[in-house]
Amino acid sequence: MPALAQAAEEFTSWRRTLHAMPETAFEEQRTSAFVAARLTSFGLPVHRGLAGTGLVATLKGARGEGPAIGLRADMDALDIHEATNLPWRSDTPGKMHACGHDGHMTMLLAAARHLSADPDFAGTVHFVFQPAEENEGGARVMVEQGLFEHFPMQAVYGLHNWPNAPFGTFLGRPGPMFAAFDIFEVRVIGRGAHAAMPQRGIDPVLTASLIVAQLQSIVARAVSPQEAAVVTVTQIHGGDTWNVIPDEVLLRGTVRTFTSEVRDLVEQRFRAVVEGVCAAQGARAEIRYERRYPALVNHGAEFAHALDAARLTAGAGAVVADFEPIMAAEDFAYMLEKAPGAYLCLASGPGANLHNAQYDFNDALIPVGASYWVHLVHSLLRPAA
Ligand SMILES: [Zn+2]
Ligand SMILES: [Zn+2]
Repeated sequence: MPALAQAAEEFTSWRRTLHAMPETAFEEQRTSAFVAARLTSFGLPVHRGLAGTGLVATLKGARGEGPAIGLRADMDALDIHEATNLPWRSDTPGKMHACGHDGHMTMLLAAARHLSADPDFAGTVHFVFQPAEENEGGARVMVEQGLFEHFPMQAVYGLHNWPNAPFGTFLGRPGPMFAAFDIFEVRVIGRGAHAAMPQRGIDPVLTASLIVAQLQSIVARAVSPQEAAVVTVTQIHGGDTWNVIPDEVLLRGTVRTFTSEVRDLVEQRFRAVVEGVCAAQGARAEIRYERRYPALVNHGAEFAHALDAARLTAGAGAVVADFEPIMAAEDFAYMLEKAPGAYLCLASGPGANLHNAQYDFNDALIPVGASYWVHLVHSLLRPAA
């Protein structure tokens, strides 16, 4: 869309302003104020305070009544110390926009301005800016605090940038696209002893090692080879010196699955493996197993609408409708549990990966993403005359 491309420089300056002031989960105060100021300047009413820093701006179409849809962007940064030397690098040590949420906000703001200037559609668009996508489930909090009751909508859509795939390509798939995400912590409790007299203790280091190895049998032998699951131990803490068997070892990690059946199976087998291995070694386990995000599941009809808008934006050759499912998680899943909708990724070309200290959002995507949002609104809310 030429109008969006012409304003690219201004949008880029918004994006870099947001990039320079990263804020993490539920602390997006400056970010929220910046977004609210832009939305207000477009003449939109802005509802603030949903999930703390979250906000929703509403635009009614000039053609009168029609369906309502939600377009969502996430706002939070990560606890990563930025390693770039860009002039717009993070002003806050230890925090950075390494997932491109600065770009997501900007693409949605750009679309909001464009549509506000010419609301040539029938119905309502809610621009949803969500805090705390990383780890803390800000989408869940917005849903719990009444997002869909205060702002009824027939469908909701999301978009994420995706490095290292051909620039400007839209990527998605119907059904499960991002995995469910659970975390675990296991305290393996043995009995400390002299390292040279192991028979007098119960060794939690050996027990924890057996647990780490045995956990891999869940994916290899309990989950069907036709299904996907990941069990990853990411932390092992225990012991202080060379010649002492410690009392305890702590394990932590994460589980990823796509269906509730596999999710239940993995948790059940996880508990059985930990308790069984501990029993065999005479040790004891304290297990904390928390279910975090559900799998992100695209709804069929809305996914097809999203693809239509992507084709209008980028051409049929730049739309991949059978993108491989991703084992990472995305909390937009909570919104898709409550309302029909679809989520696409927008490829940004070569560059540092998401969650990398060298990452920077590719500003050339801003007019592309904004134009996708505008096409989506036009194709959904402009009934044939
Ligand atoms: Zn992320
Ligand atoms: Zn992200």
